[in-house]
Amino acid sequence: MPINANSRLKRLRQALDSAGAGTLLETHLPNIFYLCGFSGDSGALLIEPSSATLFTDGRFTIQAKEETSDIRVHIHKGPILEAVGGYLRARKRQSVAVSPARLTLAGWKALRKAAGGHTKWEAIDGMVESLRAVKDAGEIDRIRDAARLGSEVMEEVIRLIRPGVTELDIAAEIGYRMRRKGASGESFEAIVAAGPRSALPHARPTARRIGKNELVVLDLGAILRHYCSDLTRTVHVGKAPTRVRKWYQAVLEAQTAARDALRSGITCAAIDHAARNVLQSKGLGRYFVHSTGHGIGLEIHEDPRIARDQKWVLQAGNVVTLEPGVYVEGVGGIRIEDDALVTSRGAEILTTAPREFLEL
Ligand code: ZN
Ligand code: ZN
Repeated sequence: MPINANSRLKRLRQALDSAGAGTLLETHLPNIFYLCGFSGDSGALLIEPSSATLFTDGRFTIQAKEETSDIRVHIHKGPILEAVGGYLRARKRQSVAVSPARLTLAGWKALRKAAGGHTKWEAIDGMVESLRAVKDAGEIDRIRDAARLGSEVMEEVIRLIRPGVTELDIAAEIGYRMRRKGASGESFEAIVAAGPRSALPHARPTARRIGKNELVVLDLGAILRHYCSDLTRTVHVGKAPTRVRKWYQAVLEAQTAARDALRSGITCAAIDHAARNVLQSKGLGRYFVHSTGHGIGLEIHEDPRIARDQKWVLQAGNVVTLEPGVYVEGVGGIRIEDDALVTSRGAEILTTAPREFLEL
């Protein structure tokens, strides 16, 4: 499905217009892909009021031609931001917005020097990211497929968990099975964390062997046709002690509360509160050490963030994760994560793996 560059550029120009800006230099690759369909790993996109120009180098000449339409492609030699600066200098472009969060200091210096003294710079962060937060039907289809693929792999690899298997064994199976099912890669390095290591929310898989009577947290995601999924399941090897079962039920209840609250018109902070409140009421609040979720799409972490301080009002088309957890040092962790599409009536859960507690 080719990107409809014209309609996305049109929406961006409207947003620039309301912000009082005319020209935007976009340097963040997922934003560039979103706006014009170019998926190469070197590029800058200059969006002027009546044209758009992609700057890239000779390695991407054919790719840029294949992937884009209705925009100009400028193949440069040497550093890319110098090329953009030289172009701005020649065009005598007066005022250009850039995103400081997406520029290095060295890149910014090179750009300013090459553009010369005539260009006035303006700082605008997050403009394309805000557009990206509301997914269109084609994007939702892709995320739905990525979520289904990730869920299938989750169900398969859970069956491989038994004492003696290492975290890395399971992580390798995750990557392999995703690609066999058509994923171009993993959204992030899968987390497989057993025993006390499961209390580390972002543990990397190790050669540690999974033991008897341990929690195992699996957090994985697939990239399918450029879009990411992200889901977590927690299982117990052997029969779980009562307190672990209680923790699991509390996390599941917290996630359900967040899911029931999710709809357009509500703030991200309110969703975070819905989940956090359940865990706090059970005395587990201090073990929930991260925020409740984040947007997914072309990137694994994008707007909006479902966190305590986020006043962002959700709208139909947002796709977010809901992933409360509890992490008890020396014992283990439990997290349940699903991907949810915000709709006008509520939410649709896109990940399909079962959520009930599995004692293997
Ligand atoms: Zn995750
Ligand atoms: Zn996540």
